[in-house]
Amino acid sequence: KPAPKAASAALDAKLIGVTVDKFLDFPGWYSQILTKGEMLDYYDVSGCYIMRPSSYAVWERIQEWFNVRIKKMGVSNVYFPMFVSSKVLEREKDHIEGFAPEVAWVTRAGNSELDEPIAIRPTSETVMYPYYSKWIQSHRDLPLKLNQWNSVVRWEFKHPQPFLRTREFLWQEGHTVHMTFGEANAEVMQILDLYAGIYEELLAVPVVKGIKTEKEKFAGGYFTTTVEGYIPATGRGIQGATSHCLGQNFSKMFNIVVENPDTEKYGEDEKLFAWQNSWGLSTRVIGVMVMVHSDNKGLVVPPRVSKDQVVVIPCGITAKTTKEEEAAIMAGARAVETRLREANVRAFGDYREIYSPGWKFSDAELKGVPLRIEFGPKDLASASVTCVRRNDGQKETVALADLETAIPALLEDIQATMLAKARKTFDEHRVTVENWADFVKELNNKNLVVAPWCGIMECEEDIKDSSARNGEEEEEVDEKAPSMGAKSLCIPFAQPEMKEGTKCVKCEEKAKLYCMFGRSY
Ligand code: AMP
Repeated sequence: KPAPKAASAALDAKLIGVTVDKFLDFPGWYSQILTKGEMLDYYDVSGCYIMRPSSYAVWERIQEWFNVRIKKMGVSNVYFPMFVSSKVLEREKDHIEGFAPEVAWVTRAGNSELDEPIAIRPTSETVMYPYYSKWIQSHRDLPLKLNQWNSVVRWEFKHPQPFLRTREFLWQEGHTVHMTFGEANAEVMQILDLYAGIYEELLAVPVVKGIKTEKEKFAGGYFTTTVEGYIPATGRGIQGATSHCLGQNFSKMFNIVVENPDTEKYGEDEKLFAWQNSWGLSTRVIGVMVMVHSDNKGLVVPPRVSKDQVVVIPCGITAKTTKEEEAAIMAGARAVETRLREANVRAFGDYREIYSPGWKFSDAELKGVPLRIEFGPKDLASASVTCVRRNDGQKETVALADLETAIPALLEDIQATMLAKARKTFDEHRVTVENWADFVKELNNKNLVVAPWCGIMECEEDIKDSSARNGEEEEEVDEKAPSMGAKSLCIPFAQPEMKEGTKCVKCEEKAKLYCMFGRSY
């Protein structure tokens, strides 16, 4: 029986939903929907967060999807230790220079100081490659393709943000070794496509694939490919995941070498240094998903990754409802739940007696359950259910007879609608500009810009500095616009056609390519 009116009203008041507006106070909003939506909790070590079941479930879906695909490519999962000696960590100079400021060290055990401090991996190139050198003795040992699902620690000093930038984060890191550049290069692109797949097919978040500039590439690597996302509320870009070709740099440092089995095929050298890749995608993806889709009512989670896809809520039971009718509604709701579960839909029923249906609706909205099914007297009479979509609030009726087919189809439609909406927004906010006057103006309009560029590193630095000054075209600059400079995000693989004689957006040099720039996380 529902709670008496007064008690129920008091309970209703306890569901304190999101109290800040996504577009007025984005950081406050983000923090509230994550904690009130029960995805995450804050922890008493700064920059570290607790992933609660609903966010960990998203991660598990990603793991399942990715594992199937990399195993098809011949990759095996492994686990290496989280500790690395300073001697090994420092073996590759450019690499350690890139990471040194963020490395956390263990210096003490109990009361005794360690003889040598031990580092906690910020990434595992140097952890794994000494063993690769040992294991790879002949060309027959290649390719070697290993991946691990683990956590790494980067003691970041930039402002920490749940999921996006944390000091410990979960990720997968793949480390593969190949005979030839061609083989390594093909894999870099294959993995990048999988990363785009995780964003677009699972998280309904569109991304742009491209290559990083020399300035932004992975420390010690040959080249870095990336998927770049966009956060509409702030107009900022975000690096989604990276697939690096490490070239032969690490194989030379760690002596990962085989004898040349075929000089006609592989050239004259007696010894061949292997070609290596590394690729990683972190729990950052969850933050991007939340920022892109969620709203002022709470989380909006795409059905393919959400812990629960459907909540069934019995409705319309009042003081006038007969005992028989109430029993029929409750039984009907439970039957809907059972049938959906049997059809592999992640459904649960909210039968808590102390809460009113309205309270339960708000609670499910806060937590981002993709579909709400209401089952009341009218539904009972017409042998149907009422469905309300979390993403756009649309209501529709589904006949009970069609549950097993109609509900999965509805969930897929929600998924597709979410991706289409996010894609439209990203497309509208990725603006091609040809001259500097438009560059800062479009940045301040919360856009990413795609601009012709000379490819020179000093010019890239100049672009960052000049766009940070809030631009030179004073009259066009909004005072509230962020003053952060624009970084190069990537050189998109899909390039606009360049006209003869196009100049760099910033300097007088001839443009070599179009580069995507933006203020970023
Ligand atoms: P990297 O090894 O630097 O290329 O990083 C691999 C991926 O991990 C990046 O593309 C980011 O998406 C993600 N990532 C890097 N730093 C962090 C961090 N502090 N917190 C969460 N994710 C991160």
